[in-house]
Amino acid sequence: MTTIDQLFDIADHVSAEEREWQLKAREFAQTRIAPIIDQAFEDRRLPVELLPEVGEFGAFGMYLHGYGLRGASSVAYGLVALEFEAVDSGFRTALSVQGSLAMGAIYKFGSEEQKQRWLPAMGRGEAVGFFGLTEPQGGSDPSTMLTTARREGDAWVLNGKKRWIGLATIAQVGVIWAKDEEGVVRGFVVPTDTPGFQATAIENKLSMRASLQTEIELTDVRLPLDAILPEAKGLSAPFKCLNEARYGIAWGVMGAARSCLEAAVARSQSRESFGSPIGGKQIIQAQLADMFLEYQKGLLLALHLGRLKDAGKLTYGQISVGKLNNVREAIGIASNARSILGGDGITSDFPVMRHMANLESVRTYEGTDEVHQLVIGRELTGLAAF
Ligand SMILES: Cc1cc2nc3c(=O)[nH]c(=O)nc-3n(C[C@H](O)[C@H](O)[C@H](O)COP(=O)(O)OP(=O)(O)OC[C@H]3O[C@@H](n4cnc5c(N)ncnc54)[C@H](O)[C@@H]3O)c2cc1C
Repeated sequence: MTTIDQLFDIADHVSAEEREWQLKAREFAQTRIAPIIDQAFEDRRLPVELLPEVGEFGAFGMYLHGYGLRGASSVAYGLVALEFEAVDSGFRTALSVQGSLAMGAIYKFGSEEQKQRWLPAMGRGEAVGFFGLTEPQGGSDPSTMLTTARREGDAWVLNGKKRWIGLATIAQVGVIWAKDEEGVVRGFVVPTDTPGFQATAIENKLSMRASLQTEIELTDVRLPLDAILPEAKGLSAPFKCLNEARYGIAWGVMGAARSCLEAAVARSQSRESFGSPIGGKQIIQAQLADMFLEYQKGLLLALHLGRLKDAGKLTYGQISVGKLNNVREAIGIASNARSILGGDGITSDFPVMRHMANLESVRTYEGTDEVHQLVIGRELTGLAAF
């Protein structure tokens, strides 16, 4: 009998270094995150005490170069995201917010001084960062942004509200996107101890409970002129950061899918009904086989995207294909696994219901299903239907 990982093993298609990252991440996720995740989910708590360990492990911004960061391949990063999300999407989300979004924005668009100041500390997990784009009036169309940045003498003054922003109540710094007086979207590096900055945790989530999302209020937040990200002008800048995170999601959700599939296969072998294991029933085997197909296809798609990304060829449309397909299929696999587990499937005896609940968030953030359908539709037709 082969394990889920062995039937079509992608280990042969990744380098020794990439495999090493994966196995290190698996070890970390299984020994450090897994034992505490159910309680953290129950307590609505991101296990923040593990963030410095993730820093030590080198996963924050691991595919960026210089500034004490690891310069690993995008495939290596994807494998780490997969192993983290095999335990919980919430912890992988923290990795994405810090590494792909906050560090990614400073790395891509920051001044040398901003990079030197923040990237090494964020890479080590000593400084936590957030990425503040979404606002309460809606996230799919960030051009409706109401947050403003106005020049006042030798300062920028920020006012506005953000919603759903990861990590902001525990962060030392973050990137706030705001419109300047000409209506151009600009990014600002905002230390969270700046007067007028206030973040409050969103407490009533039924998904991503072992994760931290917040609301931010900016009231006359005065920043020095050099707080602006000099290279970010217009919405294409935050979109470039989102694409990094979307890429990681295409891998990560396959971890959640693997975890659900493993639970369903194991249970099907031990659970008996009508005198024999349910795993011996043809309908259950057909379901497991279909779940496995989508898991394998999703994994191969993620690997393909990773190789394109490392070759500098990955396009927006391709990222949308990966995000939309892999999240959709992970949700399908989780739902099917839940049903194979029967009543026990709704309890925390299995990770499946937690994955199902988390994946609903993943479906919405970094572009909803509909937004990615519209991106792909535009690629196919040349017509923007947003
Ligand atoms: C757990 C979590 C973490 C997050 N982390 C962050 C973060 O760190 N930083 C950050 O800036 N944001 C973050 N977000 C915000 C996230 O990106 C938004 O929730 C997302 O962009 C969707 O915006 P919305 O929730 O306002 O939904 P809306 O934009 O109001 O969309 C509602 C529905 O309308 C559909 N819709 C919208 N426009 C169209 C259209 N043109 N055609 C068809 N259908 C359409 C959408 O697909 C969706 O189904 C996070 C969200 C969650 C849930």
